[in-house]
Amino acid sequence: MNLHDSEKIAGVLEGKGYLATADNTKADVIVFNTCCIRHTAERKALGNILAYKQYKAINPKLILAVVGCMSQQPEVNKLLSESYPFVDIVLGTGNLDAFSKAIDAKTLENRRTAWRRLDEKPIIDEGYPLARTSGANAWLDITYGCDNFCSYCIVPHVRGRERSRDADIIVAEASTLIEQGYKEITLLGQNVNSYYHNGIDFACLLERVAELDGDFRLRFLTSHPKDFSKKVVKVIADNEKISNYIHLPVQAGSNKVLADMNRRYTREHYLSLLKMIRDSIPKAGITTDIMVGFPGEDDKDFQDTLDLVRQARFSSAFTFKYSRRKGTDADKMKEQVPEEVKKARIRELISLQNQITLELSQDYIGQTVRVLVEDKSNRAKDTLCGREDTGRLVNFEDVGNKVGDFCNVIVTHTKASSLWGRVASE
Ligand code: SAH
Ligand code: SF4
Repeated sequence: MNLHDSEKIAGVLEGKGYLATADNTKADVIVFNTCCIRHTAERKALGNILAYKQYKAINPKLILAVVGCMSQQPEVNKLLSESYPFVDIVLGTGNLDAFSKAIDAKTLENRRTAWRRLDEKPIIDEGYPLARTSGANAWLDITYGCDNFCSYCIVPHVRGRERSRDADIIVAEASTLIEQGYKEITLLGQNVNSYYHNGIDFACLLERVAELDGDFRLRFLTSHPKDFSKKVVKVIADNEKISNYIHLPVQAGSNKVLADMNRRYTREHYLSLLKMIRDSIPKAGITTDIMVGFPGEDDKDFQDTLDLVRQARFSSAFTFKYSRRKGTDADKMKEQVPEEVKKARIRELISLQNQITLELSQDYIGQTVRVLVEDKSNRAKDTLCGREDTGRLVNFEDVGNKVGDFCNVIVTHTKASSLWGRVASE
């Protein structure tokens, strides 16, 4: 989502005639598009911003802007405005109109007085050009914001209430992207399953996009277990163009912790959802997000998470240590878990998941998988990489396939979660 927001910001700048440069000393505008989901993301961003002060000395006309989730938090917005005098523009999330006007401001004074502020009313930005950088894949927003208020999460506080975009606009954009040659479309939302606009729910929207003509693959991120419906599973199972990859964050395996997180499902519900998906789509690749060290998580709770992971057999998992975020309910909870305990738990969790990932990888050996070529592989020479239908990264010898081609690859061996192979002869 953050990457896609950066494409929008770059689009606004390109529309004004700016060109991208990899040379910071040549830049007339530098924009930090920030994240604040965990404390480390915020600390890194603040450190990086400070390091860019030097470019102001090289180019006094340089405009430095900080936008995104981190600067949408009132206390950080204040900190940047007051203690980072070299930063010209401080804006929050998704208000491209304000960003555009701030860049156009005639004087430094004007820019600073008008454009160091929060976005008070999150809106839907429509009609702005995009400078896409995602190769064969195109990100496509379907909702903004989030209404779920998971107790650990800052997102609803910085991205505002959930807003669904008009389905006709989304379908028209998807159609244009396919005409432009994009081979993969990823529908984006914090909880795509709660998409709803004028009687159209997520399953209907997914079906409408999948019915468009053309050879493309359709994916979506992220799904919330409380809203993931049988109807959506049926649409995926019935449509070849929809990828059999599902990212379904579970967060924890203990019902006590899930309730304290305000996730609004139980481990039993989650496991029954996995069964429902696999009954309809046996080869589905399911990945997840898991957090350790949520306040009050005791050893028994953590064992419940490990037990769920053993039963769920995820293709892979993004694992996180709980990070306190100001303004969230979990930050006020008394029983914070010590850092050493979080570290030990995440190590154990990662080791278990790695073992499962490795075991599941073996099933692919000898299979022919359809891969969308995404890039040169950075893992080996003369090798390309791309993803197959269930979301696995596949590396294979470069025999001249181009980025954006679909090709069949015979899997010969595996390394952790990635698959390796050679292009099948026609
Ligand atoms: N909307 C998505 C994910 C949003 S953030 C969803 O609901 O699943 C991506 C992931 O970051 C989350 O799934 C969660 O595992 C993690 N995360 C969010 N807040 C966090 C926090 N305070 N500390 C640690 N991890 C966090
Ligand atoms: Fe955060 Fe929960 Fe919303 Fe995901 S669903 S963005 S974790 S509040």
